[in-house]
Amino acid sequence: MKTDVTNRLIWFKGQIINVNDAFINVLAPTSQFGLNVFEGIPCYWNGEAKQLYAFRLEDHYKRLLKSAKLIQLECPYTSENFKTALVDVVKANEYDENLSVRHTLFVDGFGSWGSEGPVEMFVAPIPRGRTSAEYNKKGLNCCVTSWRRISDSNLSPRVKCGANYINSRVGQREALRNGYDTCIFLNEFGKVAEGPGSCLFIIKDGVLITPQLTDSVLESITRDSVIQLAKDELGLRVEERTIDRTELYLADEAFLCGSAMEITPIYSIDRYPIGSGEQGEITKKIHILYIDAARGRLASRKNWLTPIY
Ligand code: PMP
Repeated sequence: MKTDVTNRLIWFKGQIINVNDAFINVLAPTSQFGLNVFEGIPCYWNGEAKQLYAFRLEDHYKRLLKSAKLIQLECPYTSENFKTALVDVVKANEYDENLSVRHTLFVDGFGSWGSEGPVEMFVAPIPRGRTSAEYNKKGLNCCVTSWRRISDSNLSPRVKCGANYINSRVGQREALRNGYDTCIFLNEFGKVAEGPGSCLFIIKDGVLITPQLTDSVLESITRDSVIQLAKDELGLRVEERTIDRTELYLADEAFLCGSAMEITPIYSIDRYPIGSGEQGEITKKIHILYIDAARGRLASRKNWLTPIY
């Protein structure tokens, strides 16, 4: 029988247990200093095929291992171990719905922020739409936050480390305090970076434009998928380049994207309406393509999917 969400089973330190029985020591460096790296792996249920597809699983694992390498977490597991844990825990819950699977490597024990280990792992499925409110909106009213995105000279924005999300938090909290859905960060040089948990694209005169990876953005898997789909399936010109703040306000269309966000149109930025102030035509096409690819309805992108059942 399918488990209810409050009693879901998770993979924790090598065992599959009820989430309520998984405990982490309060003094562990992961609790105190956000010393962990993680992925949110999207899995989409395809009702016709009666199959759950994990989206770009190998790419998520590559990024997880890169994140661990950067902050020097000695990971005792291989990509094969990751995959076995994910498949086992999803099957144990008998999930037949869209999920995000949180896959986290963390520093346990009684050490400090400089500790090497012990490194432990948990894998926890989260039915979609159960995290932040902005992930459930049809369109977004954004502000440019006064906080700057972390930079490669202090805390790398390229990798997914728990502590990075305090920067995301202050931007998001400022946006909510001021009546916006979410925010867009500028980088240390005042150029456009990304959202607190998503990457940004704008469209101007039919060209799709996104900040380059050296502009303080996460090496986002959705960003890469959008670029490939736009070029190969829609024949669009795509530019990865530095974006000025002014370009945000004058864009024809804009959207945020990410594994949780999917493709969500931006209706306004700092109260400037973007285009018509609704979902733009190109954004809509990209959204449909992305969802088709993730659900296994796009033959050319079947190689992005790993069937769970
Ligand atoms: N930027 C940040 C800061 C994020 O947290 C995320 C979500 N992982 C993204 C971008 C989008 O990355 P992805 O497409 O790999 O989910």
